[in-house]
Amino acid sequence: MDSSPSPGVASEPDHSAAALLDEARAMLPWMVDIRRDLHRHPELGLEEHRTSARVCALLDELGIAHRAGLAGTGVVGLIPGREDRAAVALRADLDALPLQDAKQTPYRSEVAGKMHACGHDVHTTILLGAARLLAARREELAGPVKLIFQPAEETVGGAKLLIEEGVLEEPPVAAIFGLHVDPELEVGTFGLRYGQRNASSDDLKLTVHGRSAHAAYPAGGVDAIVVAAQVVSAVQSVVSRNVDARESAVITFGTVNGGTQANIVASRVELVGTVRCLDPRIREIVLRRVRQTAEGVAAGLGARAEVEIRPSYEALVNDDAMVDVVRRSAAALVGEQGVVVIDRPNMGVEDFAFYLAKVPGAFFSLGVRNEAEGIVHPIHHELFDVDESSLALGAAIQALNALGV
Ligand SMILES: [Zn+2]
Ligand SMILES: [Zn+2]
Repeated sequence: MDSSPSPGVASEPDHSAAALLDEARAMLPWMVDIRRDLHRHPELGLEEHRTSARVCALLDELGIAHRAGLAGTGVVGLIPGREDRAAVALRADLDALPLQDAKQTPYRSEVAGKMHACGHDVHTTILLGAARLLAARREELAGPVKLIFQPAEETVGGAKLLIEEGVLEEPPVAAIFGLHVDPELEVGTFGLRYGQRNASSDDLKLTVHGRSAHAAYPAGGVDAIVVAAQVVSAVQSVVSRNVDARESAVITFGTVNGGTQANIVASRVELVGTVRCLDPRIREIVLRRVRQTAEGVAAGLGARAEVEIRPSYEALVNDDAMVDVVRRSAAALVGEQGVVVIDRPNMGVEDFAFYLAKVPGAFFSLGVRNEAEGIVHPIHHELFDVDESSLALGAAIQALNALGV
């Protein structure tokens, strides 16, 4: 960005942003090829070996030094800047989902039962595009830019694994930016959220221990199914009765398993679910009350509830100053009318939260919807796709973010 500290605002035309976008658009065929290749060969979390090898080969072609094999399939590239100081990190995720691709396109998944239905192929391609734009502007970079290609966003929280392997060190990371495709937003727009963007999650396993008996003589046992049914109902009152009505929390049981056959009173039922919260204080209240309610209801009915709670993803909280950096970049590329400030957080999770717990940064949305082309399906849907012109915008905004910090 020349010598100007920010990428500019919409009121004054930003020629360097426009030039960057022109360049990104000129390399769109290269990016479309990469994206379609990744799209045809989806790999699940921690199995992204082919994807990882493709990333390494492309970084080699761009002359960008990198290290592979972090958490197995992660790759970290580094573009040096003028000064030896803390880096700006840009992150993409590599993994696909266990879903059958139902699209009728030449680039549909060639792997049965696996599909890039969350757009991580797009994220990976965008990061390579941003890397190419930045590698050509090394002399404009004040400090280094770290390129993080992260495995397993959808499964074990690959971000956590990479942080444990030191991805935020050597050089240290001063700011981090990540994006996610959003099929709710029209292509040509960006969605920004200040503060809390995504919920935290906790995995819940409740095991109700009763005592078996003949189905005709239930008084001789403790029916774990009847107890479990009451536990499920009672636990739902935690959100409605223990959480301030102005706050948000979700408790969902996804599976119920128990019993052996029709004429035996069940001795054991297992309930598995998830808890989502936005506020750490609410999270603490909900988890405590779920435990007390399940144990108390079970005990009152003569059974015993064993409650296992495993923390999963942290809530994702954006740094407002970093959101402003993204906002300036977005406005410079598409004008203020293309910037959508999202007024509510969502109850989904995103493992980018683990980076934001360590360093300031922003996670934002890239519009990929195109009604006229029928590109309208939500993420994790068997017909999910993106308007590929979004690749150029994604690469340009990440490059601008790195230049703008
Ligand atoms: Zn996903
Ligand atoms: Zn995703």
